[in-house]
Amino acid sequence: PTGEPAGPLWRADDKDYAPDSPNSARTNAALISLVRNEELDDLVSTMGDLERTWNHKFNYPYIFFNDKPFTEEFKKKTQAATKAKCQYGNATLTNQLVPKEHWEVPSWINMDLFRESAQMLEEQDIQYSSKISYHQMCRWNSGLFYKHPALEKYRYYWRIEPNVKFFCDVDYDVFRYMQDNNKTYGFTINLYDAPQSIPSLWPRTREFLAANPDYLSENNMWQWLTDDVARPEHNKIANGYSTCHFWSNFEIGDLDFFRGEKYDAYFQYLDRAGGFFYERWGDAPVHSIGVGLFADAANVHWFRDIGYNHIPFLNCPNSPKCSGCQAGQMYAGESFLGKEDCRPTYFKYVGTH
Ligand code: GDP
Ligand code: MN
Repeated sequence: PTGEPAGPLWRADDKDYAPDSPNSARTNAALISLVRNEELDDLVSTMGDLERTWNHKFNYPYIFFNDKPFTEEFKKKTQAATKAKCQYGNATLTNQLVPKEHWEVPSWINMDLFRESAQMLEEQDIQYSSKISYHQMCRWNSGLFYKHPALEKYRYYWRIEPNVKFFCDVDYDVFRYMQDNNKTYGFTINLYDAPQSIPSLWPRTREFLAANPDYLSENNMWQWLTDDVARPEHNKIANGYSTCHFWSNFEIGDLDFFRGEKYDAYFQYLDRAGGFFYERWGDAPVHSIGVGLFADAANVHWFRDIGYNHIPFLNCPNSPKCSGCQAGQMYAGESFLGKEDCRPTYFKYVGTH
């Protein structure tokens, strides 16, 4: 068993996936990463894994984003890691790799209040609370990446980060699978979040829903989002949200969903509420709630066959196509982290599609 989804699947052997082919079989998709110059070696390591297990056959282009200009070394070494095209933001259009107005702290944020709340979050051991760029990164990944001019012409994206690992050979065109099966979102890892980082995210979400009741999809993931049985304390501190989320350092998504009216209005509402700065809302819970409420659950796919690791969690399939991880292993580190796995709750309510 390889865990491949039900076919038909597009393989590289009988289709044109040459890097420069003008009429290639590639669908309209890109591999994307927001990344810093200092992370070059870790990014090249990620690219090595992804090229070896998948992209050397399909040659999907990479687009890198940064709030600072990429160095020549960065461009040289990333392009050397792949036959596919690499693009570095869109410097000509905005003279910024990430448009300034997408990255700067919005005018309505009170910096005194930010510092005060950051200190309180630090006392609760919420990682990166005082690091303003971390908040900016989470906000950009939540609601701004899909507005970047370089992504305008694309439909699907696969997000990658420096220093993640891919363990399994994947022989089919993953983006084509998304398109042919009308998938909105694909994930590998499903976790609980630190509830102290998002106490008002769910209350603000409920307000948004009350004002826009038609936005809720019929086949939504409400029970997964609101479960209070598996980890009641999480639900309590997060004021009604289970904190279950797709771990967004890996995600394959449909940009049309994020650019669409519902998700974007939801982001605008959250952005105004200030929780990206006064709390430490992550893009993972924000994407997950958006997908869980506004998408059709049948259009969300668990890529069980894509072996993956971002420290300290893993998705490690039991398949002859995988090497480098222990089948079924979910974490590498201290054993208490096993309870962070939200997949059982997800399978219970949503199932696999
Ligand atoms: P963690 O996974 O939550 O620990 O956060 P990371 O430090 O891995 O950041 C998430 C992603 O955003 C990674 O791809 C980082 O390279 C990127 N990132 C984080 N902060 C910044 C930043 O200030 N500038 C840029 N350009 N990228 C950032
Ligand atoms: Mn990371």
